[in-house]
Amino acid sequence: MSSVKTILITGVSSGFGQALAQEALAAGHRVIGTVRNREAQQAFEALDANRAVAHLLDVTDFEHLDNVVADIESTVGPIDVLVNNAGYGHEGLLEESSLAEIRRQFDVNVFGAVAMIKAVLPGMRERRRGHIINITSMGGFITLPGITDYCGSKFALEGISEALGKEVNPFGIHVTAVAPGSFRTEWAGRSMVRTPRSIADYDALFAPIRQAREEKSGKQLGDPVKAARAILTVIGSDTPPAHLLLGSDALALVREKLATLSQEINAWEAVTRSTDG
Ligand code: NAP
Repeated sequence: MSSVKTILITGVSSGFGQALAQEALAAGHRVIGTVRNREAQQAFEALDANRAVAHLLDVTDFEHLDNVVADIESTVGPIDVLVNNAGYGHEGLLEESSLAEIRRQFDVNVFGAVAMIKAVLPGMRERRRGHIINITSMGGFITLPGITDYCGSKFALEGISEALGKEVNPFGIHVTAVAPGSFRTEWAGRSMVRTPRSIADYDALFAPIRQAREEKSGKQLGDPVKAARAILTVIGSDTPPAHLLLGSDALALVREKLATLSQEINAWEAVTRSTDG
């Protein structure tokens, strides 16, 4: 693969997608971005007259999505890298959230990414090269009350990424799940869907969590431009990882989770082994 790549990124209107697109353009790559309105399309294409192209797409528009990818491949050329970035956080306790809200979370964060992967894979497999990067979350390893279905969606995408890698690595296609900690994007701001409170029993647990997340929005530890540079390092690698954490918060929390999980597995080992035979 030449060092200049054609990179398709979903959700380039703000946050990680926008930062990655800008850093990738600055590094000389061609970037096709997806956006959801004409204003964002014009703003994105203004970044570079030749190498920045924006297509209108909601990643849950499953009927339309294959045509958008086919259109990109016939006009711009083969897609070397797909970055499944589009996603959002649904904040709501499981019991208070509607099934429709939970389904929508999975439709965008999981099935949107899966549909994009299915659209680019035939071309990548035929060419025997390609890289799929799924933006998951530290919430794909650790869990927090109040973002239960968000964590579920990111665990799902982590699992799909890892297993998919085993299916497509023989064809020269890499799959990397990138799990950021807390970064200064619109995630906890305009993009977050917050289910209204309805069950007082959860007040003591959840009210401080919701308030803290609102107060922290825009002041998180992570810099999305630095995340973009880290992702470009992965894109430039001949041996990219299956999983990459971004941010010291993600590192500490995931290490703690793995240690606790390991302790619990050890504590219950005898019961686990008792079912063989
Ligand atoms: P962001 O600033 O809100 O950006 C989200 C992007 O996704 C926007 O471009 C948005 O487009 C797009 N998008 C949302 N729903 C979409 C849909 N149905 N179809 C197409 N595009 C859609 O937040 P961000 O933090 O950069 O989020 C990017 C990814 O990082 C998400 O998958 C998120 O879960 C993940 N993540 C974020 C953090 C963090 O702390 N920021 C941590 C871990 C993981 P519009 O402008 O049209 O809404």
